[in-house]
Amino acid sequence: MDDERINAALRDATDTQNVTIGAGMLTSVNEVFGQSFGDQPAVVVADENTFAVAGEEVRQRLQEAGRTLVDPYVFPGQPTLYADYQNIVALAEALRVHETIPVAVGSGTLNDIVKRAAYECDRPYMVVATAASMDGYTAFGASITKEGYKQTMTCPAPKAVLADLDVLVHAPPKMTASGYADLLGKVTAGADWLIADALEVEKIEPQVWSLVQDPLREWTGKPNELHAGDRQATEQLIEGLIMSGLGIQAHQSSRPASGSEHQFSHLWEMEGLGHGDHGEPPLSHGFKVGVGSVAIAALYERVLQRDLSTLDIEAVCRTWPTRAEVEQAVRAAHTIPGLVENAVTESLAKYISADQLAQRLALLRERWPEQRERVAGQLMTADQLRAMLQAAGCPTSPSEIGLSWAEFEATYSRAQMIRRRYTILDLATETGILAECVDELFAPGGFWARDVAS
Ligand SMILES: [Zn+2]
Repeated sequence: MDDERINAALRDATDTQNVTIGAGMLTSVNEVFGQSFGDQPAVVVADENTFAVAGEEVRQRLQEAGRTLVDPYVFPGQPTLYADYQNIVALAEALRVHETIPVAVGSGTLNDIVKRAAYECDRPYMVVATAASMDGYTAFGASITKEGYKQTMTCPAPKAVLADLDVLVHAPPKMTASGYADLLGKVTAGADWLIADALEVEKIEPQVWSLVQDPLREWTGKPNELHAGDRQATEQLIEGLIMSGLGIQAHQSSRPASGSEHQFSHLWEMEGLGHGDHGEPPLSHGFKVGVGSVAIAALYERVLQRDLSTLDIEAVCRTWPTRAEVEQAVRAAHTIPGLVENAVTESLAKYISADQLAQRLALLRERWPEQRERVAGQLMTADQLRAMLQAAGCPTSPSEIGLSWAEFEATYSRAQMIRRRYTILDLATETGILAECVDELFAPGGFWARDVAS
């Protein structure tokens, strides 16, 4: 692991103090725990799978070191643990009985459950990662389903994170592939931030940008090796995922790690795509982000091909919808109750008047030649991203994740409505070119055309 990079990131992090990555690191679990929590007692929280993989060893090592422990809290291994609020209520209740520091042993869902439950008990926690499967270990907030609606609930990131490469390389290959797709999504996320920065919607914070973007090509450069279980490629992946989370902590927003590719993923997630209702394991966050990244990179190619420095601003502003019309369009495009209200709020939060639009587009016209190059330098082609994802064992087309072509095509306009974060979807909407760009992607010769045909 690159200690210098991690330490630089930890200096700006608000919650996390200690990140330990390396082979055989489970042996240092008590030491790492002690650095953040001193002599406090601990409780291991896992599910049956992760308890077998690392939880029992963590418990044993803490015990052998003389630490006070209570019995582990172990969720069932089957069906796959779900980040439902009920699980948080149950865990928080169990935690309140004693004054232990929870040590989560697991990955995405388990970490999210412990993160929120610990927060509800006013307690910090530690996580021992069992898979390089997503960037949520060190991110603040937990992705939880409450009353049927998936939301990000407030809660601080863990104080200490330990990742043993010997554990990570033996994680289910699909989990590692998911983490890779989540990390590779930072390519389009970065492009979106560049766009928002150029239009003075959301400034780039250079230090945070560097944490995630400077080493990104290095972290994601060995998809074949990663797929083959290579230790070094796995180390680069977990470092990238943990650094992305630290970037989110430092920025107090997911902007450094999440753009329009995540909006695709969030929309599908909220609509229940691949929730595993029929007993199969749920479709991972990363796999949805991966398909979203290819989709967004393909859209970028269409947009960047245009010369927006000659955009007819008056013509665009003449057909600009009113607030009421935007709300109407959002309600027509979304039908799930919790989702539609949220989408209306988010869409109106970023609504600008025709006058404001004229100003923004004037800025765009002026800056386009320079910004087009800057964004192109950040991006990879959709073909490149697809090849890298395939090499890592990730799905890259809608049919592979159970999405129809019609639903997939509609995602380009519907995803724009669900978050206020400014992305390429907003730029394409505001310049009036989104529909024609999407048409081009699905027309004969377009990026998605060959897949639709096959
Ligand atoms: Zn993500």
